Amino acid sequence: MVRLMREKENAENTVTNLQQEIQVMSRMFEEYREQMEEKTSQMEEHLTLRAKEAEFLLTQSKKRVEEVETASELQSQLWSKKANTFRSFMDNQKLSIKDIRISSQSIKQEMFALQMKWRDEISNIGLDLKGLVDAAENYHGVLAENQKLFNEVQELKGNIRVYCRVRPFLPGQDGKSTAVDYIGENGEILISNPSKQGKDGYRMFKFNKIFNTHVSQAEVFSDIQPLIRSVLDGFNVCIFAYGQTGSGKTYTMSGPGKSKEDWGVNYRALNDLFDISLKRRNTFSYEVEVQMVEIYNEQVRDLLSNDIAQKRNTRYLEYFST
Ligand code: ADP
Ligand code: MG
Repeated sequence: MVRLMREKENAENTVTNLQQEIQVMSRMFEEYREQMEEKTSQMEEHLTLRAKEAEFLLTQSKKRVEEVETASELQSQLWSKKANTFRSFMDNQKLSIKDIRISSQSIKQEMFALQMKWRDEISNIGLDLKGLVDAAENYHGVLAENQKLFNEVQELKGNIRVYCRVRPFLPGQDGKSTAVDYIGENGEILISNPSKQGKDGYRMFKFNKIFNTHVSQAEVFSDIQPLIRSVLDGFNVCIFAYGQTGSGKTYTMSGPGKSKEDWGVNYRALNDLFDISLKRRNTFSYEVEVQMVEIYNEQVRDLLSNDIAQKRNTRYLEYFST
């Protein structure tokens, strides 16, 4: 009995120990469970958040996909348009290349024909040129001969020539009181002097030529022109007008106006010289020097000077030299 009692007591001790152990274990388990629960709820929360995020990203990416799709659609439409334009451009190019090929062919043929024609023409020109060269050589010879003869004629006519020009009465002057009595064919002029009697009342002068009142500027120049042309052969020529104030020097040398008919000797002379030198510009080159002065009261004035005081009056002598 005692043994049994002790055994029972032992068994009861074991039971209480086990119970205590169970209690400790169950507490631990409880604690563990609570922890786990907490963790689970945290995990759940975290996962729902993640899920939401993922959902949001999904919608975003869907949107992007849609956008990209529409954009690519537009792009592809644009490209197909471009491709069409390019294709039609290429077709056009092909057509024009064909045209160009055809026209270049015909141009080539034309060029060939032209080349042949030119070859003929050039050989003809060569022949003509030879003729021209011969002619030019002859021309030089003939011109030199011509110039020699011309200058000889001028010398025979006299290197110094004196002409007399009678100017008409000016408006308001008495036309009856002329001192010119007679003008001959060969340069004679008879001047009357009413203050003297008989033979002394007349005086005859002789010039190379007399220009009467009606003679034009052009006619006066035509007699001087050959002398002016000697300038082109290197001769110095001097023309001067002499007479009292109002006798017509300026009229004869420069002319009364700007029109070509009015031109006096010096304008006409220069015009003639430059005209001829221009015509001969391929054969000769000329250098022309001109001087224009007046002598008044024994003072020489340069009429081509820019100094106004130098050219104020034109009186007794007008002088033009080349
Ligand atoms: P000068 O220069 O000798 O002093 P001008 O040439 O000025 O003289 O001439 C004096 C005037 O006579 C001017 O009015 C001019 O127009 C006139 N005259 C001169 N010669 C002629 C002419 N041949 N025909 C018409 N008028 C002339
Ligand atoms: Mg004058």
